[in-house]
Amino acid sequence: MVWEYKDVYVRTTISKINQSLIPDMYDFMRENYSNFTWEFSPIVPAGLNKEVAKAMLPDAELFCQSAIQIFHHWLEHNPIEIPLFTEIMKYCLELNIPPEIMQPRLNVGHDGMIYRCPLLIGNQNYKIGKYYESSTLVAFRKIDCVWRRISKPECFECKYNRFCCFSSCAYLAVSLDGIEGIVDFYCKLWTTMYTEICATVNRELHIATP
Ligand code: SF4
Ligand code: SF4
Repeated sequence: MVWEYKDVYVRTTISKINQSLIPDMYDFMRENYSNFTWEFSPIVPAGLNKEVAKAMLPDAELFCQSAIQIFHHWLEHNPIEIPLFTEIMKYCLELNIPPEIMQPRLNVGHDGMIYRCPLLIGNQNYKIGKYYESSTLVAFRKIDCVWRRISKPECFECKYNRFCCFSSCAYLAVSLDGIEGIVDFYCKLWTTMYTEICATVNRELHIATP
């Protein structure tokens, strides 16, 4: 089959329903075309009833197993770009230390208002002001993404917080707050993969992890 497009960016949200297909998704992209960029993450159930949202989350252990399996294949063959792996590896190699707390991107909603997060456009609680008023820009420049509504004490000492972003992302806080055990769930889901990637980098490239 001949593919007539290039540089395809795929973002996959994983839920309980599609999680068994994660390896198949990866296989499809690597076998059919080399210029895929693939992001995958558990579904962020914004706006859903918290019980419904919780029921949709993937099984953390299975998700993590699939991600690690894909990581090892990817590291050896590098068939497509997976920014999640690249970023964590760079961090482990100390080539790129992403800021732990992000600055919001300037964004204007359809209503002419600036919001503190592009993903929260339209949510009046996160509105800063009219885009054409200089006071709005002054206020925008002063804010960052700190939002300590969800997190657990360990997150503040954790070197992976810059990837989890629990204490530093208004959008995640709004979407996930109120789901019982949500931080523990994400911790279980991601920590083993972070650790495995850093251990692999350390083992294969003989460079100490931070
Ligand atoms: S890995 Fe666990 S402890 Fe570390 S930031 Fe993520 S959720 Fe918090
Ligand atoms: S609040 Fe979260 S999603 Fe929004 S800009 Fe900040 S880090 Fe990004």
